[in-house]
Amino acid sequence: MSVYLDSAATTRPGEACIAAMTEALREGWGNPSSLHRVGFEAQCRTDRARGQIAAALGCDAECLIFTSGATESNHLAIRGAAAAYGRRRRRVVTTTVEHASVRGAFDLLAEQGYEVVRVAPGADGILRAEDVAAAVDENTCLVSMMLVNNETGAILPVQQSFAMIGREHSHVIRHCDAVQGFLKLPVSPEKLHADLLTVSGHKVHACKGVGALYVKKGVRLIPLLKGGEQEKRLRPGTESVPLIAGFGAAAAELRGTLAARAEYVGGLRAALTEQLSAMEGVTVQSPADGSPYILSFSVKGLRSETMLHFLSEKGISVSSGSACSKGKQSGVLEQFGIKPDAADSTLRVSFCAENTPEDVTALCDALREAQERLVHKR
Ligand code: PMP
Repeated sequence: MSVYLDSAATTRPGEACIAAMTEALREGWGNPSSLHRVGFEAQCRTDRARGQIAAALGCDAECLIFTSGATESNHLAIRGAAAAYGRRRRRVVTTTVEHASVRGAFDLLAEQGYEVVRVAPGADGILRAEDVAAAVDENTCLVSMMLVNNETGAILPVQQSFAMIGREHSHVIRHCDAVQGFLKLPVSPEKLHADLLTVSGHKVHACKGVGALYVKKGVRLIPLLKGGEQEKRLRPGTESVPLIAGFGAAAAELRGTLAARAEYVGGLRAALTEQLSAMEGVTVQSPADGSPYILSFSVKGLRSETMLHFLSEKGISVSSGSACSKGKQSGVLEQFGIKPDAADSTLRVSFCAENTPEDVTALCDALREAQERLVHKR
């Protein structure tokens, strides 16, 4: 049996992606910067992919910079904007529930002497737009806030926060890590009032190693690397045409089915929530109005790692908090008000449209078995 319920960690490359990558490897292997036919063939494929991803975001293709993934996009956005706008305005604002790549970028800014303000959710575990907006002042050059939390699926009030900040402090650059929302919920940088927005390929049935950064027209960034002229000099280095082509094809394939997929996985999430609620000692931790793709819960008396191994033996793949932390606690669950004990006993289930109701049943059967066999026997 193989039940994959870890799509927030990564997804299986789709057929459209594999076909586009294979085609690009065969026919688009040139250097997109070369001024000859072979180069032109490669450039056609990156242009097409840029158009496909732009269509999925409802933005101009010219606003997209290809990168090696969301980690790089986040660093380029945060460090690049701080370097461009933060000479006099030394305050930067983010939240306490961000992905490690955003946390890391702000840690580097703190080392450079920026005043880093990290806004936490309230005692009820809800992060409020007013609190984010209130942290921004005249001295602030940048705010960064994720759209969907990768550990709980909580949807953050990006649109409200960014609109408020835009009204009161129009000079502030607004960045959103939209990795767990892209092609799952409607994501439009314009509607979110985002100047910069990060997406990643491997969360949307493309390959690992490719991502993009939306950069609103007129927004300046200081690149992390200096080199060639590629990607408007913001990301020098020869583009990986096959990875980019695969990303574009995956986006094009998923774009038309967003609502139908969200409804379908929402049904799976509801079924899982219902079955878990009937189990003793199980507490659902995700907010009811969170992303339909993610469900976080804790199982009393069982540690995440023990459960992960037990489930893995049965061919069921889920995650503890987030895959990136490899079992290590990121502290984000506690920020959402989850007690350390429950955080240690947390499993994160994340869906894609390939999952079935049988996957949910298999997981719940295995969890009941784990409770019978493993609880109180330690
Ligand atoms: N941001 C979020 C919210 C994520 O979930 C992830 C992946 N776990 C990343 C950034 C990093 O993405 P990548 O693997 O493309 O660097």
